[in-house]
Amino acid sequence: MQILTYPHYTLRYKSKPVTRVDAALRKLVAEMFDLMYEASGVGLAGNQVDLPLRLFVVNMAVEQGEGEELVFINPVLSHLKGNEEADEGCLSLPELYGNVVRAKQVHVQAYNLRGEEFSADLDGLSARVIQHENDHLDGVLFIDRMTTAGKLAMRESLEEFELEQKSLRDLGQLESDQEIELRLAEWVQKYCQPSE
Ligand code: ZN
Repeated sequence: MQILTYPHYTLRYKSKPVTRVDAALRKLVAEMFDLMYEASGVGLAGNQVDLPLRLFVVNMAVEQGEGEELVFINPVLSHLKGNEEADEGCLSLPELYGNVVRAKQVHVQAYNLRGEEFSADLDGLSARVIQHENDHLDGVLFIDRMTTAGKLAMRESLEEFELEQKSLRDLGQLESDQEIELRLAEWVQKYCQPSE
C-alpha cells in the first residue's frame, strides 16, 4: 500500500459505500494509519491508497500513540454552517498548499470498524479535515475548491505532477486507467455488495 499522488485515476473515483467489514479490511485500515503517520498527516481517505471504498481515517494528533484514532465508514455530513478560509494541503499533492473556504461547523454521522454508528458535531480544524477527507470519497481534491487565482498560481506545479505520471506511464511503471478501473471493480465486488 502506498499513498497515490495527483493525478492518479483512483483519486477521481467516486467511492462506493462499504457493506462488509472483515479482518482483511481492518488490516488495510491499520496500514492506512501507518502510512498517514509516516507522512505526518491528520487524515487519509480510501481513494488515496487505491481503495474505492467510502472510508477515511483521522488522528488530529499527527503522532502515532497520541490523540484518538478515528475510522469513518460511509460518512454523511450535514448541518454545515458558516464559512472559514484557511490554508490546506493534501498527502496526494505533496508540498502544495492553498486557501480553501470550508464550512466552520459540521455534523458527521458514520460507522466504525465494529459496525457501530456514531456522530459528532465538529468545528475548527477537525471540521475542515472531515470535509477535506469526505471530498476525497467523491473524487474531489482541495485544488478543485480553490479560487481561480489560487488555481492559476498552482497550475505549474500541477503540470509537473501530470508530466511525472505521463513519464511513468511511458516507462510502463504505471497501469492504464482501464487496468486500474478493473482492479477497483474487484474491491467494490468484495466490499460493496448490497446485503441480501
Ligand atoms: Zn487529501
